[in-house]
Amino acid sequence: MSLRHQGIHLALRMLALMQADRLLPSGSDSAGAVLTLHHVRPDSGAAFQPNAGLCVQPEFLDALLGRLAETGRRFVPLSKILDDFEAGRAAPEQVAITLDDGYRDNLEEALPVFRRHDAFFTLFACPGFCDRTAPLWWEALERILADNQVIAAEGHGPPEMAAATLEEKSQAFTEWSVWLLRVSEGEARAAVEALAARYGLDLAALARELVMDWDELRVLAAEPLATIGAHTDTHPALARLSPERALEAMRSSADRLEAELGERPGCLAFPYGTPVAVGEREARIAKDAGFRAAFTTRPGMIRFDENPHFLPRISVNGLYQEVRLQEVLLSPGLWRAGRGALSGVRRLSGGRVHQ
Ligand SMILES: [Zn+2]
Repeated sequence: MSLRHQGIHLALRMLALMQADRLLPSGSDSAGAVLTLHHVRPDSGAAFQPNAGLCVQPEFLDALLGRLAETGRRFVPLSKILDDFEAGRAAPEQVAITLDDGYRDNLEEALPVFRRHDAFFTLFACPGFCDRTAPLWWEALERILADNQVIAAEGHGPPEMAAATLEEKSQAFTEWSVWLLRVSEGEARAAVEALAARYGLDLAALARELVMDWDELRVLAAEPLATIGAHTDTHPALARLSPERALEAMRSSADRLEAELGERPGCLAFPYGTPVAVGEREARIAKDAGFRAAFTTRPGMIRFDENPHFLPRISVNGLYQEVRLQEVLLSPGLWRAGRGALSGVRRLSGGRVHQ
């Protein structure tokens, strides 16, 4: 675990020891918390897992939801939090769960846990992943780096990098991730395709392996606890697109989900959700695209002074799979007290977010 994450662990552990989450008042300035999940699956045991922050184990999720229910938190549909947000009705105990990208393990591993706790959830689906036409580049990079001693794509991406040791693989993963989110959508796409071709990775097969197809998504959408939201067409970093293309990326994903599932999604989650990928311009475009609300991965509670098209979510980070630590991280009182003082923990609790 990196020094940074060790620091966050220590801070959370101290707050847990101080019982800070139990001592601070919840306040009356929020409609609840929205959680973000990605993969829910057993640990693969692999030594190199640069996306570990995006994976939580089903047993941990089960224990966390059990603990939240025991301590008076209520699982509600995302629409209920939005109703209360719009009406200014305080309900800090409310929790809405969201999952990004549409991983198959959400159906196979997470759904039984949600049923056990009667926990509503919203899945933000990306049609390009269901169609197997948009690359899951962070998963592709993980596979390529795990299996190779160097990484380079001829004529694309960062210069050749060593990837023999775990440290070198991690550095290369970071370098490539930063590069891919900095360049244009077309350049990023070309570099990922060049990498995949060079190392013999079938990007469509990777999407088939990891993400639900339309039939599976329809099964999930029919669940009484489930709602489907939009996550753009091909999962681009919207901030690097023209306004017209950004609008198209958002609107066409809702069109496609409506055509496939029979219901138009009311909400959007911005891909990546971080400042390099989404800002005020994207919030305005999401509003123009007709969404009721749009979500970032900026951590925080749904306070009444938030922009409905730039709402925060709290990531349930796979690097902190301890119920007590997550309980602290999800405490309304702490977020309220910590707007200034805990800014470090707030910033870092989003973790390393690729989606
Ligand atoms: Zn995503």
